[in-house]
Amino acid sequence: MSDDTIFGKIARGEIPADIVYEDEHAVAFRDLNPQAPTHVLVIPRRPIATLNDAGPDDAELIGRLFLAAAKVAAQEGFADDGYRTVINCNADGGQTVYHLHVHLLGGRPLQWPPG
Ligand code: 5GP
Repeated sequence: MSDDTIFGKIARGEIPADIVYEDEHAVAFRDLNPQAPTHVLVIPRRPIATLNDAGPDDAELIGRLFLAAAKVAAQEGFADDGYRTVINCNADGGQTVYHLHVHLLGGRPLQWPPG
């Protein structure tokens, strides 16, 4: 499957990003337009456009994305204070980049519900 999104290019190392964590399955990098003191995006190396496009074979991979987010939260020093992980799906969910990503937001108290 081809993936010409910005995040596909970041996953393949074709364009730069401020990478804070990576492994065989996932890459985590700082959001260009942060909504919290720490705002990191965790993406799978494998291209999956939206959460709707994930199937049973992706179950482990999706778990890995959240475990990577928890690792980054610990690295950033706010794991105990708390943080938020979020996946936006399609237009009403606010998704703008169609390569699945988990937002990790932390470093300040977050409001609920989001807008
Ligand atoms: P979405 O709205 O799809 O859930 O989230 C996309 C996120 O990607 C936004 O928070 C946006 O600021 C971020 N973003 C868009 N383009 C780039 C980019 O080229 N580099 C980085 N690091 N973040 C980006």
